[in-house]
Amino acid sequence: MPFVMTSPSGPAQAQDYCVVWHGDALLLPENGLPCIGQLPLTGLRHLGELAGQRCFVGEWVGQPPAGWRSLSLRQALAGQTPADWAGLLSRARMLRTFDRTHRYCGACATPLRDHDHDHGKVCPSCDLLSYPKLSPAMMALVVRDRQLLLARSPHFPPGVYSALAGFVEPGETLEACVHREVQEEVGVRIHNLRYLGSQGWPFPHSLMLAFVADYLDGEITPQAGEIESAQWFDLDQLPALPSQASIAHSLIHRAVAMLNGQPLADDAAELRYARAAP
Ligand SMILES: [Zn+2]
Repeated sequence: MPFVMTSPSGPAQAQDYCVVWHGDALLLPENGLPCIGQLPLTGLRHLGELAGQRCFVGEWVGQPPAGWRSLSLRQALAGQTPADWAGLLSRARMLRTFDRTHRYCGACATPLRDHDHDHGKVCPSCDLLSYPKLSPAMMALVVRDRQLLLARSPHFPPGVYSALAGFVEPGETLEACVHREVQEEVGVRIHNLRYLGSQGWPFPHSLMLAFVADYLDGEITPQAGEIESAQWFDLDQLPALPSQASIAHSLIHRAVAMLNGQPLADDAAELRYARAAP
């Protein structure tokens, strides 16, 4: 059931689908997404269309229904819901977070109203427009011959290594961010930067942008307090990697496939291996 983002098109109807939250948990009946019907829902907001049918996000009022599953978003994205729901669930969580955290105008503190035609909110007093927050963050995999530079943060589960990552600063280009973060985190310089793909990451509102880069020079020097360990790993002897739902996992696997001369999987077809400026 492919999900397509569309603009709001009128109030929710009984036959529309709904991504239902109860606090931080996602509520799901046995089969698929529920229709709105007569369910006790509040805070309904349009998300788009699922299999040609409109889909909303809403909050369950009262005790959760018997027989429904209650999942965390991480569980839902880690294989307990269909893979093609990832964009839908990420969008649902991010728009719901926006509703919960943007109730008043940031300039004059007047209660905000929903914009008529899109997902923004408008201040009826000073006309300030607010839109759902997106925080771009880059992820970089540094390659040297048939080795990958992977690192671990002190917060990772034991033994897990991943690509380097960091948030884009205001006014900074993605390319400059990749060069800066790699140098800050592990002390090496890179070149030949290539864009690999992106993924919405709703914890709470990131947009992950993945790059592969070639090693240029420098000795690995882990950044104190941020990087517990960083090492070169042979392609055939990779350590434990982050969860399959993360872009880090797919980035590393796509890079390994590429370095082994294999074509990228079909689901990566739109994530063209484009060359970005240094
Ligand atoms: Zn205002």
